[in-house]
Amino acid sequence: MTTLSGKTALVTGSTSGIGLGIALSLAKAGANLILNGFGDASKVIAEVEQFGGKVGHHSADVSDPAQIADMIAYAEREFGGVDILVNNAGIQHVAPVDEFPVERWDSIIAINLSSVFHSTRLSLPGMRAKGWGRVINIASVHGLVGSTGKAAYVAAKHGVIGLTKVVALETATSNVTCNAICPGWVLTPLVQKQIDDRAATGIDPQQAQHDLLAEKQPSLEFVTPPQLGELVLFLCSEAGAQVRGAAWNIDGGWLAQ
Ligand code: NAD
Repeated sequence: MTTLSGKTALVTGSTSGIGLGIALSLAKAGANLILNGFGDASKVIAEVEQFGGKVGHHSADVSDPAQIADMIAYAEREFGGVDILVNNAGIQHVAPVDEFPVERWDSIIAINLSSVFHSTRLSLPGMRAKGWGRVINIASVHGLVGSTGKAAYVAAKHGVIGLTKVVALETATSNVTCNAICPGWVLTPLVQKQIDDRAATGIDPQQAQHDLLAEKQPSLEFVTPPQLGELVLFLCSEAGAQVRGAAWNIDGGWLAQ
């Protein structure tokens, strides 16, 4: 098992869903954790604290570069910096491109793409100084292929994969690596909303869930947050040290089609 004791991981958007699953895997492997995200963090902090590492929470809204800077300064002050940065916070909005609300486009680009740039540029100097680091961007299969109704999300996630490649090249001769993970459907609040929207048209909720999977994910099973956590641990391990600039799909066969 990968030992990350002495390392500090910052996982954006870790009060829910995939980010929480990844935070739990990193804490179980011994890392100190800085959580981030909206909602009541006290329950999530207690859940992550059970593994014995130091745990903090910073409430930065990652659509605001100044709040991201404040979060990285907090990490430096309270934890001695960020060794593992998991850029995970993300939102979704589904609408045809010619009806897409402009303010939703702006928020999705800010949260799903620009925040990755800001947290990475602010964390990299500390990683370089320590001679080790991992930047892991939670992109999506939608970073590699499109789907109707998801103009902003698909554009942002494709951008994240491009940014991942550049950071991987700029760190290639160091012990800092940068990679993207591209999940297919994971049953989190972000996806439950899409199932609920389908069910609202009168379809049975179970059928709506089945239809969502059947359209894209040949396994007909959801990817789980613990499975994503294990992939993050691999990328943090010595075995993952030469994985650089990858866009690693974990998607029940979505992209094999
Ligand atoms: P989620 O809605 O369960 O969790 C999102 C998290 O981000 C929450 O903790 C929320 O508080 C936080 N967040 C939202 N806006 C924020 C902001 N402005 N500042 C700080 N935190 C903010 O969603 P999820 O499904 O766990 O998604 C996590 C990531 O995984 C996203 O980037 C998403 O695009 C990606 N992803 C999800 C799926 C899926 O099927 N669920 C598939 C591929 C990729």
